[in-house]
Amino acid sequence: AKENGKNQMEIYSSDINSMTIERFTMENELRKAIERNEFELHYQPQFQLENNRTLGIEALLRWHSPCRGLVSPLDFIPLAEETGLIIPIGNWVLKEACRQNKEWIDLGLPPIIVSVNISARQLQQKNFVDIVKSILEESDLPPSYLCLEITESTAIKNVEISMDMLRELGELGVNISIDDFGIGYSSLAMLKQLPISNVKIDKSFIHDMDMDKDDAAIVRAIIAMAHSLELTVTAEGVETEEQKDILTSEKCNFVQGYLYSKPLTAKECYEYIQSITIK
Ligand code: C2E
Ligand code: CA
Ligand code: CA
Ligand code: CA
Repeated sequence: AKENGKNQMEIYSSDINSMTIERFTMENELRKAIERNEFELHYQPQFQLENNRTLGIEALLRWHSPCRGLVSPLDFIPLAEETGLIIPIGNWVLKEACRQNKEWIDLGLPPIIVSVNISARQLQQKNFVDIVKSILEESDLPPSYLCLEITESTAIKNVEISMDMLRELGELGVNISIDDFGIGYSSLAMLKQLPISNVKIDKSFIHDMDMDKDDAAIVRAIIAMAHSLELTVTAEGVETEEQKDILTSEKCNFVQGYLYSKPLTAKECYEYIQSITIK
């Protein structure tokens, strides 16, 4: 038994070793990914139910790693957050989303709002407002065509820092949306202290809504409460007609999901916006 225990220890520590090496390797690759142009943004349309039109798009980060292939953000954003690399990466995302949106407006497409995911680490920078301001100036995008998606947990954990910062961003004319709402157990009343205009219901609630009465009840309650606080609501991960029908009858404002469109490359998105304009 003793020997066995020793073996397990050895296996255990070599696992830790290879995990450390793997993380270190990925960190180094991520460090070089910006200058090597390995990042790309995809854009997923956000559809307004009331008058059947696309009002916005969410920018979603993609990493084309030369050795790993296409890496999901779920597999590298956590490491980027821990190592602080999310700061330069997040700045690149903001710049690229604003630059791209302005280019489409200049090409004559009807202006839409681009939403960008913001990590806690980014919001904790004292000069975050100045960063956003200078990116908006550099790209010449009107602030009202930018929305920042901040997760419920980030907003609540940082309520004190967030408050002033979000207020300043709001005064600039930037839209603020609370992302992944419903999984953090915070109350909307608390979030309402922040200068936000929209909440996004997490896709885990939408997913089971047509089969699970509890999830449907939660979605209904969130929509009703948000509306009573004069917030608009987006449902993410909408995949079926049944989900769409429930959300329509509950007067959910915006929907996003595979039922409408998967995330598109910039070129596909340009063609998408163009095609809905002609209709
Ligand atoms: P999120 O902000 O909740 O984004 C929604 C995710 O759901 C996206 O995954 C999107 O592709 C996916 N999705 C869209 N429609 C559907 C659907 O109908 N069904 C299902 N099952 N999924 C759908 P993605 O692109 O893999 O991004 C995962 C997460 O990575 C995002 O979750 C966000 O938290 C993070 N992320 C992505 N881009 C960025 C970024 O630029 N900065 C930061 N900080 N985080 C990012
Ligand atoms: Ca999001
Ligand atoms: Ca989510
Ligand atoms: Ca459930």
